[in-house]
Formats: sequence, C-alpha cells, structure tokens
Amino acid sequence: MHRKSRNLRSISIDTQKKTVWIQAGATLGEAYYRIAEKSKKLAFIAGVCPSVGVGVGGHLSGGGYSMMSRKFGTAADNIIDVKLIDASGQIQDRESMGEDRFWAIRGGGGTSFGLIISWKVKLLDIPEKHGKKTVHAFFFTMFIGGVDDLLHEMQDRFPELGLVKKDCIEMSWIESILFFNSLPRGTSPDVLLNWNSSTYNVGFFKGKSDYVQHPISINGLEGIWKLLNQLSSIKNSNAMLEFSPWGGKLSEKSESETPFPHRAGNIFMIHYGVNWGNIENSKRNIAWNRKLYRYMAKYVSKSPRAAYLNYRDLDLGVNNKRNTSYEQARVWGVKYFKNNFDRLVKIKTKIDPTNFFRNEQSIPPLLS
Ligand SMILES: Cc1cc2nc3c(=O)[nH]c(=O)nc-3n(C[C@H](O)[C@H](O)[C@H](O)COP(=O)(O)OP(=O)(O)OC[C@H]3O[C@@H](n4cnc5c(N)ncnc54)[C@H](O)[C@@H]3O)c2cc1C
Repeated sequence: MHRKSRNLRSISIDTQKKTVWIQAGATLGEAYYRIAEKSKKLAFIAGVCPSVGVGVGGHLSGGGYSMMSRKFGTAADNIIDVKLIDASGQIQDRESMGEDRFWAIRGGGGTSFGLIISWKVKLLDIPEKHGKKTVHAFFFTMFIGGVDDLLHEMQDRFPELGLVKKDCIEMSWIESILFFNSLPRGTSPDVLLNWNSSTYNVGFFKGKSDYVQHPISINGLEGIWKLLNQLSSIKNSNAMLEFSPWGGKLSEKSESETPFPHRAGNIFMIHYGVNWGNIENSKRNIAWNRKLYRYMAKYVSKSPRAAYLNYRDLDLGVNNKRNTSYEQARVWGVKYFKNNFDRLVKIKTKIDPTNFFRNEQSIPPLLS
C-alpha cells in the first residue's frame, strides 16, 4: 500500500525530554527523518535494512529488532506510553489501560489487544564523533564510536576478519539508515519521506526465522551454501539470509519482562527470506524456503523452536475461522512468546473475551 495515502502519521518530538509521539500510520523512514532533522544527537531505535517503509503500528508491537539493538534493546523495549482504541471504541493510554495490556502490546502484537493510534518512545543518545560522525559496521551492529575504537575492538576480538581502516566508513546515524537501504553515499535523507512498498518491487515474498544458541559447524554452513545454490535454478528468485547478532541489551532483560522472549542464550537470529517475480514460481520458492528451514532444525533453538513474531510465518499454524482452542494456538504461541503465551491468553480473555481483535495468528481468548 502507498503510505502517502494514509492518515495518522504525525510525529511530535520533544528533544528536551528525549521522547517522541509517533502515530501508527507513519513509516520508520519518516520517523528517522523527522528526528534527525531536529537533533543530531538523538535516535529512534527500530528496523534494520531495508525497513524504512515499514509502519510504526505493527512493527513496534511485535518487538522491532534494529541495527542498534545490542546497545539499546528492541523498539518495544523503549516504548513509554501509547494511545489505543479498545474493543468498546474507547481511547486508552498507559495509565487507563493498566500495566497488563501495556505489557501485552510491547511484543505480543498490537493485533490481539486493540488498535494502536500512536506510540510514545524514548529517544536515545548517540554520540557525535569526529565532526558529527558515528560509525556503524555491518558485522558489529551495535558499535557506536570512532573508527579507531571500532578497529581496536574488531582486531582484538575478531582478528581472523582482517579488518583494516579502509574497510570502515564513518557516517552519521541518518546516513547509516540510507547506507543500509543500499542508497549511494550522498543521497539526500528526503528520500525517506517518500518510501513505500513499491520502492522494493519485490513481487512475492516468503520468510521464516530461527534463533541460534550454538555456533553452526563448518559442515552445517556448507549445507546452507548448497541449498542457496539450488535456488539459482529458479528464474527471478533471490534468497536473503540475515544473521542478526544477539547479546548486549537484547539479552539483559528477563524473558518475561516483555512478551518478546528472545533474550539470554541466543547468539543470533536468522531470517530466511526468498522473493520472486513470477506467480507461477510460487510453489517452488515456498518449497525451497521450507526445505532450508527443515535442514536448519538441528542447528537452532529447540523446545520450542523459537520464531520472531514480526517475521510472521503461517506455516507454524493458523487460527480457525471461528474459535481456536488454547492448545491449538499454543503450537505457534510458544514459538513466538515462550512462557509469555499463557499470560497473553489470560490478558486477552480478560480484555477482549469476544475476540473482536483477531487475525490468522492472534492470541485467542480462553473458550468459556
Ligand atoms: C522490507 C522489510 C524489512 C523489515 N526489516 C525489519 C527489521 O529490520 N527489524 C524487524 O524487527 N522487523 C523487520 N521487518 C518485519 C516488520 O517488523 C514486520 O513486517 C511488521 O509487522 C511491519 O509492521 P507494519 O505495521 O508495517 O505491517 P502490517 O502488515 O501493516 O502489520 C503487521 C501486524 O501488525 C498489526 N498492526 C498494524 N498496525 C496496527 C495498529 N495500528 N494497531 C494494532 N495492530 C496493528 C497488523 O494487524 C498485523 O498483524 C521488515 C519487514 C519488511 C517488509
């Protein structure tokens, strides 16, 4: 959908209090642009590349992993207030809705608990270094500091990568957003105001996710490589494999502090994506994506094999058209939320017993 046609997209920034109210129809790109316009020392933490066209409404309610998450946590970790319409049409904020619902919407998915109108989010301090520059490195995502600090850290901890100064680029936060969205250096940030899904022109897409707790063996990686090569036999198909490093602030919170439970013990998250241009190739591409996921089973988290809500995967199970039982929804619920699933069901049963807010994988209320 072309986001320009949407309303509810205002962004009000308070640089003194270091907060921002962002309405649910705004894109991440718009929020990044408006914040950078007001301050070079404050940032809003949300989606990595290429996500500037993603909407604030759904993204924050599912967690929101970002390039700076190891430093600042998920986007949802930084939510401090909200305005939401409940099932009876009333507008609620954090105080009036109570802590249970406020807990649920910060990682449990907005869909099940109300219609988000706007989020209030903390703005985070980012340093200006070497003439207003900040460093971001592809494989060291949370690093914020000067090039020399980065090099020292990398050479010390990952000497096998052989990183040298000419491999590093020094740039501001907003420049790094453009960089990770594959735009040439020097592109004006104005482009963030006009981003929409057609900017990617991806055609069709299927994704899945996993969390990894032990390093994958060389044999394991070679198997992934073989599977990636198999995709070249399908015309106009592109695989995308993202390994997102864990640790830092992401792993400090307990699993139950927010519904997003993927904390200590993980070393990285994988997103397996495939996109293709021709609808007649859908079956083969989806089959390939599922084959890769099956292959990965022995290398990833188990009991449950965890998954990231924002990389929604309907292969994990879907709600019935009418009522869905706790046992049925638990199959995918524990993958997304682990033990938090039970608390989400209790909250849902209390605040939306008729299941007014629902979708294919929303939290069902307990059947009476
Ligand atoms: C190109 C691309 C890059 C991405 N990069 C990242 C990334 O870096 N990090 C990351 O964590 N995720 C990333 N994602 C996943 C992204 O977080 C999810 O797709 C997210 O659901 C997008 O939110 P949306 O509001 O744009 O989507 P929608 O499809 O509109 O909504 C997603 C879900 O949220 C619900 N929802 C939407 N708006 C509201 C609202 N106002 N109130 C209540 N519920 C609502 C919808 O019902 C739906 O269930 C990426 C996705 C894409 C397509």
